Amino acid sequence: MITTKMKRHRWTIALLSTLLMGSVLLTGCEEGGQGQKEGQNLNAPATSDTSEEVTPDGTNDNKTDGTEDNKDGIETGKEDTETDSVMALRAQSSLQSSIQQEGDRSVVTNAEAVTVIVNKERSLPEGYEPDDLVEPNVPFSFDGPHEKRHLRKEAAAALEELFAAAKEDGIELRAVSGYRSYNRQVSVYNSSVERNGEEYAARVSAKPGYSEHQTGLAIDVSSPSVGNVIEEVFGDSEEGKWLEEHAPEYGFVIRYLKDREDITGYVYEPWHIRYVGKELAPDIAESGLTLEEYFDEANIKL
Ligand SMILES: [Zn+2]
Repeated sequence: MITTKMKRHRWTIALLSTLLMGSVLLTGCEEGGQGQKEGQNLNAPATSDTSEEVTPDGTNDNKTDGTEDNKDGIETGKEDTETDSVMALRAQSSLQSSIQQEGDRSVVTNAEAVTVIVNKERSLPEGYEPDDLVEPNVPFSFDGPHEKRHLRKEAAAALEELFAAAKEDGIELRAVSGYRSYNRQVSVYNSSVERNGEEYAARVSAKPGYSEHQTGLAIDVSSPSVGNVIEEVFGDSEEGKWLEEHAPEYGFVIRYLKDREDITGYVYEPWHIRYVGKELAPDIAESGLTLEEYFDEANIKL
């Protein structure tokens, strides 16, 4: 006999299953084995909340804050110079000036720049491998040697500073996954094809050459307080909030912002930080823009 209560219970299970199926889709940090923990939801509706759009003009307003009271003008001049150099750096690395077409691929021309933009539409050159990968001296979430312990030298040094600052504030962070080689992406992608078929794999896994982890400038970070998972829950933890607030001081930004998957191609990933250098990171974070918007020539005023 099936009671109404049982029916309701079954319906709840069906609903939960549907929701869970949705979150099985993978993110840009996908590594095969633990991909099911991440949720790149390709079916999510693109955000239509245009009121949240940041206008090009909003980008640098904060730079001039406080200079009105400044009577001697020297500081103002210095701020202008800083703004100019930030704008020049942006222009140098603009999306439009750093891409070339190779067959059916759009390939970045500045793979070694700390400001390189790699996403689902912009790949690294075939077989790209940074030549200055090192292992940062920070605690990891796992033991034993692995290529994912590596970052490019400058980013690794900055990560050590970031982790040291966290520790001083009583915040415990763990590095989870940094560099990912082209070959490892190929094997992850192929095993996804084997498991799920070509069509499905193409939808949920980054194609080899298109992962930001291959630049050696991106790393996933978590905390023992959430079991070192790379899931959205990290963003709500004390450690996740600390990271968002302080990462820019050390040259890192949260790469995949909330509700910007229509621009970045990925859902909110509070664990994935990207080194862009100490000069630009605070300005990028202040702007509230994704890297795609920040480096779009339409938003760069020289
Ligand atoms: Zn990642």
